[in-house]
Amino acid sequence: MSNIMEYQMFINGQWTPGLSGETMEVINPATREVVATVPRGCREDVDRALNSARSSFESGIWANKSVEERAKVLMDAAMLVVANKERLAQLESLTSGATIRRSTTVDIAEVAGTLLLTAMIAKEMPKVEHTFFSPPWIAPMHSFWKREPIGVCAGITPWNFPLILAIFKIAPALAMGNSIVMKPASITPVTTLELAKILSDAGVPPGVFNVITGPGSSMGNYLAGHPEVDKIAFTGSTEVGKQIAGQAAETIKRVTLELGGKSPILVLDDADMEVAANMCLLGFLFHSGQVCESGTRLFVPSSKQDELVERMIAKIKKMVIGNQMDIETDLGPVVSQNQLDTIGRYVKVGREEGAQLAYGGRQLTDGIYEKGFYYEPTIFVNCHNKMTQVREEIFGPVQCVIPYDDVDEAVAMANDSIYGLGGGICSTNASRAQKLAARLRTGTVWINTWHVLRPDAPFGGYKQSGYGRECSYHSLMAYSEVKHICQDLTPDGNDKLMSLLIGSNR
Ligand code: NAP
Ligand code: MG
Repeated sequence: MSNIMEYQMFINGQWTPGLSGETMEVINPATREVVATVPRGCREDVDRALNSARSSFESGIWANKSVEERAKVLMDAAMLVVANKERLAQLESLTSGATIRRSTTVDIAEVAGTLLLTAMIAKEMPKVEHTFFSPPWIAPMHSFWKREPIGVCAGITPWNFPLILAIFKIAPALAMGNSIVMKPASITPVTTLELAKILSDAGVPPGVFNVITGPGSSMGNYLAGHPEVDKIAFTGSTEVGKQIAGQAAETIKRVTLELGGKSPILVLDDADMEVAANMCLLGFLFHSGQVCESGTRLFVPSSKQDELVERMIAKIKKMVIGNQMDIETDLGPVVSQNQLDTIGRYVKVGREEGAQLAYGGRQLTDGIYEKGFYYEPTIFVNCHNKMTQVREEIFGPVQCVIPYDDVDEAVAMANDSIYGLGGGICSTNASRAQKLAARLRTGTVWINTWHVLRPDAPFGGYKQSGYGRECSYHSLMAYSEVKHICQDLTPDGNDKLMSLLIGSNR
């Protein structure tokens, strides 16, 4: 894949150039080499994609299929994801910096698994639910309710997990019979475009699945505010999420937001320190820390801080930092110069505010790192919960350790955040850990592990980490409306009700 690949948008089942004729370059963060170009879309491209989604929805070509028929297409798509796993994983890694070891295993399994399980859960959901309620003032009526698609959905995704975060939106939207327009992040759009081919080959009809590419600030913003969008699902920064929620209010769009986080890890005094070191490293180093639910506020008993940090540093020293395409690499580059700059800024602020640097704190620039965006794993100790780098999302390999002496105080500090995405407890006492998990105001709590997302378990945030849930049965609820149908089965049934309510049958 050394040649520059030229992608087009996918609208109404066709590969199509953007109307402006302009393109954007996609680079490999390890080398800064251009990997691909995609169209720089404009507002008219958004209109075209939404028209195609609307027409396909109104035609009933997908919405009127049975859930079993739609589920079969999604399951076939899951098989095609597995059949194309080398290509998908290579492209995901080349553009997002995901280590190839991870993308070929975890990402492919998550994408195929989400398609499969979402299809199966959709099939198992009750198609119709009934009730029989017949008080004396009303004739016997048949009352039932069922789920229907919302209509035209839009999905806007970030650069950190382009495939997984796209499929979290696409699978439930399609399973419930919606049409959808996806706008991937401008620096990682290619695997979402690859999904268009897979879904089309699996049998998703033209117009039901569309992908447009272009700048979020202009085109994404226009998409998010568009009256033709019935539901929007966004993953990204809290700042843009707030704008989208505001725009959605204008036409009362259904909204799912998965935003930032600053997730707390509570290491308890009874924790196994080896388990704690592994959990804390997993929490902040997976994908070089560019994960919304990264565990980046580490609360540890004061007496255990030194031991835990020493263990973590010893393990970091054995990690291989390098080109993400090398199977031996544990930590790849961060995604962009922007992200590198952000990390550098927060580390500088951390030092200025008095946090002690126990490890790292610099960009890697020599030898194999010369061309890429590499940042050393970084640990600050003796932090407190009010420091800027402890409160704000950094999105890089930076851990802030906060010593505590009282576990109730630690829980209060853990909850003292605008975010509420992930949280975790490290303990050898299962029931104590579960009781504390209930006290964390976060959408997910991991006990003695981190980052485990499952297609059959809900994922989402409390507080400013967003609202709505992706994955599982809950995501299917978020991509459907429920309609109650109430039918009088008797010839003169309404008489009783009319005389009672408006007296008009005298
Ligand atoms: P972002 O600005 O929120 O971008 C996410 C997506 O939204 C991209 O597709 C982007 O398009 C699009 N977008 C940008 N502005 C928009 C607007 N006004 N209306 C509609 N769509 C818009 O995130 P970022 O700038 O890439 O990263 C900034 C910070 O966000 C990170 O440092 C991190 O803290 C956080 N973040 C969180 C997550 C998460 O998983 N929760 C993921 C990524 C980043 P373009 O790519 O064309 O700009
Ligand atoms: Mg942005």
